[in-house]
Amino acid sequence: MLARIPSPSRRERPVADAVVACLTELGVQVHEDKSGSATGGDTGNLWCTVSGDGTGPHLALGAHLDTVMPTGSIEPVLGDDGAFRNSLGTILGADDKAAITALLHATELLKASGAPFPSYELFFTVSEENGLVGIKHLRENALSSPLAAVLDSSGPVGGIIVKAPSMQTLRAAFHGRAAHAGVEPERGRSAIQAAARAVGAMRLGRLDEETSANIGLIHGGVATNIVPDHCVIEGECRGHDEKKLAGVAAAMVDAVQEAAVQTGVDVDVGLVHEFPAFSLSRRSPVVRLAEAAVSALGIEFRLLTAGGGSDANVLNARGLPTVNLDAGMMRAHSPEEYLALDELERLCALALQLIMLAPEFTPRPRPAEPDL
Ligand SMILES: [Zn+2]
Repeated sequence: MLARIPSPSRRERPVADAVVACLTELGVQVHEDKSGSATGGDTGNLWCTVSGDGTGPHLALGAHLDTVMPTGSIEPVLGDDGAFRNSLGTILGADDKAAITALLHATELLKASGAPFPSYELFFTVSEENGLVGIKHLRENALSSPLAAVLDSSGPVGGIIVKAPSMQTLRAAFHGRAAHAGVEPERGRSAIQAAARAVGAMRLGRLDEETSANIGLIHGGVATNIVPDHCVIEGECRGHDEKKLAGVAAAMVDAVQEAAVQTGVDVDVGLVHEFPAFSLSRRSPVVRLAEAAVSALGIEFRLLTAGGGSDANVLNARGLPTVNLDAGMMRAHSPEEYLALDELERLCALALQLIMLAPEFTPRPRPAEPDL
């Protein structure tokens, strides 16, 4: 079982090997890129085409191979309530192994059925949890499908994420001057005071219905009797409007620089644009495909706005329309993470519906010109 194989970000090799072995056994050739060397990991992104009938591929379905850090081993057990949990008390890793399992099993079923099915692609990324690092290194032309879906959102099957925010992270390192706090405090320049002033001047929390900002980490100083010469703050801001978000990020940087000037310390401050926002319209073929696939299961679809990023953010920015779908896992990133077996079955059925219905929603290739 995949969940049993630990795969924290950058250490996905064993789980990637299991995925490749499964697909190879099904007669599918899997490619791996060299993103591992760029991300500091031991594995690259995987992708493959599962060739069916006719033209295609019509749709790329994806999941990520890594999990957030487990604090120990993983031993999934199926409880009386029909849900898997890790009996050893940390994450289960259903985020995103539920999706990997569903995609592999759907492929197994299609291959075993002997019935015709449309061609599709699968992709499995590395280092998603530590900032969508893997997908950013996926080769531009690796996927040739016109539409894509990642199965990587917490919630019961049926949720379709059509909108997700952009995120920028901020890191500021204040460098003051150390001095004995009792003997000669006037010689010191407090980096902590500078950081506090900066944070105090920032607008944080929910700034409006589509923008938020947070300082989540602060560390500095060595002892109560030393004026601290070092303090680092780290934070983020998220928003659905890129322009507005750029303004919020710039204001955070201003607060840092102003505080440094006022307190006479130096500062190194930097912003990283972690991922861009996306917003798909109701008319978008990939949204209509997802709605149709969910409806075919007899479930009511839910169009959702995400608070976080996923591989879908990066693919949409590259011009590949991509939805992120609820994959059945609950309370992901916590020791309470669980996955109901019937949700896993529904997720597999959803993957099958997406594959079978995709040709109806993808542009048809132009018929060949008749010979004159
Ligand atoms: Zn995930």
